[in-house]
Amino acid sequence: MEVQLLEATDDPEEVICSAARNDYMSDWLGDQSFEETMESIEGEGIEEKKETLIGHLLKQGHFGPFEHPQATFAVKGISRSCMAQITRHRHVSFDVQSMRYVAFDEVDPENVAEGEMVVTPPSANDPDWVGRNQKGGAVDDETVEKREAVFRQSVKRSVEDYQELLDLGMPPEDARFVLPIGTEVNMVMSMNARMLMHVADMRAAADAQWEIREMTEQVLDLAKEWCPITFEHYEEHMKNRKNRLAP
Ligand SMILES: Cc1cc2nc3c(=O)[nH]c(=O)nc-3n(C[C@H](O)[C@H](O)[C@H](O)COP(=O)(O)OP(=O)(O)OC[C@H]3O[C@@H](n4cnc5c(N)ncnc54)[C@H](O)[C@@H]3O)c2cc1C
Repeated sequence: MEVQLLEATDDPEEVICSAARNDYMSDWLGDQSFEETMESIEGEGIEEKKETLIGHLLKQGHFGPFEHPQATFAVKGISRSCMAQITRHRHVSFDVQSMRYVAFDEVDPENVAEGEMVVTPPSANDPDWVGRNQKGGAVDDETVEKREAVFRQSVKRSVEDYQELLDLGMPPEDARFVLPIGTEVNMVMSMNARMLMHVADMRAAADAQWEIREMTEQVLDLAKEWCPITFEHYEEHMKNRKNRLAP
């Protein structure tokens, strides 16, 4: 999988601070510079003042101002299973690659068996991998070899059947019913900074599945470059807790 930041609010932390300051000022933001808006905040320069205010907002649970800056991510090659999990979040906007208009008629089923088009879960070929809902612990190499063979044969056969149904004139939107839930999909998703922290609370957590955790970690790395004070604070003080960012 791969995640890229496609587009995001410029100066997100100036937006957060301005919105928060608006609540406690008699003056109007539109009539003054950002420096004037931040004048009463503790700190040497403007960066330190932003750190003071953002740290204070996050500690106090004043999350409203974090709803103003928004980021759009392009996600490549997650499973339809992972897509079903992330699209449960109702304040995130999505565009999902269509299986009605994009048909997998050119894919060679032999390559599917080798890992193309369908995500291979680590438990299919890593003997040391222990999933959260796995009965028992690690298994021996022979068992994992069998698992891998069954998995690869199954995904290959489902793509062969899918392509045969297309050849028999079945529309892609119906032929896709035989494809595995691990079939890869590309997606675009947009969310504001508050929602991003909520998604991270739920999906970077230990009880979330490995794939959505990996995607969320990539999103968080990009968020740290985009909105650094906020997401460094999140990483240091808030990550791996249920922060009640959602009411
Ligand atoms: C580890 C894990 C396992 C899961 N397993 C399952 C499962 O087995 N089956 C299943 O169905 N789901 C499962 N989920 C999904 C989960 O139940 C939520 O639907 C999903 O995580 C969306 O998060 P959210 O409820 O915070 O809502 P979001 O859509 O992210 O909304 C954010 C917040 O807005 C508020 N909100 C949004 N819409 C409403 C509304 N209509 N009414 C009131 N408040 C609202 C809530 O406070 C909510 O927390 C699982 C999630 C995780 C993380």
